[in-house]
Amino acid sequence: MSDTSCIFCKIAAHEVPTEIVHENDRIVAFRDMDPKAPTHILLIPKEHIGSIADIEDRHGAMLADIAQAATHLAKTEGIDRSGWRLVTNVGPDAGQSVFHLHVHLLGGRISSGRDGAGFRVAATLPTGRAA
Ligand code: AMP
Ligand code: ZN
Repeated sequence: MSDTSCIFCKIAAHEVPTEIVHENDRIVAFRDMDPKAPTHILLIPKEHIGSIADIEDRHGAMLADIAQAATHLAKTEGIDRSGWRLVTNVGPDAGQSVFHLHVHLLGGRISSGRDGAGFRVAATLPTGRAA
């Protein structure tokens, strides 16, 4: 079911112009319009689900699609070896600003401090060891 006031439902329905990078029956992946890392892709279910806190047993296949699409996109983006991160925010303290479940795929930069997806990232040395 879609929510006519929800921007991510509109993206899933191809009703607004967006750079879609992957799609199947259950999910859509598109580039974040305000990227916080060289690769910043959002993966969403086509069904309107408020957040990961609203997941039900019947959503298992959709969550598997998100994990597999993220792995595929990490390869096509060239970040599968350097490393990538999946983040999903729930509620205001976590910085959730769109209330349709979305998983951020972030990669392409060794970062420290607070990243754009609103959570603390440990400082990492170029060797990969934690600072
Ligand atoms: P969050 O703060 O976790 O709710 O993340 C919402 C993300 O959606 C932010 O990174 C926004 O830049 C992104 N965003 C919002 N509207 C759009 C849109 N129309 N197209 C692409 N990304 C969007
Ligand atoms: Zn929606």
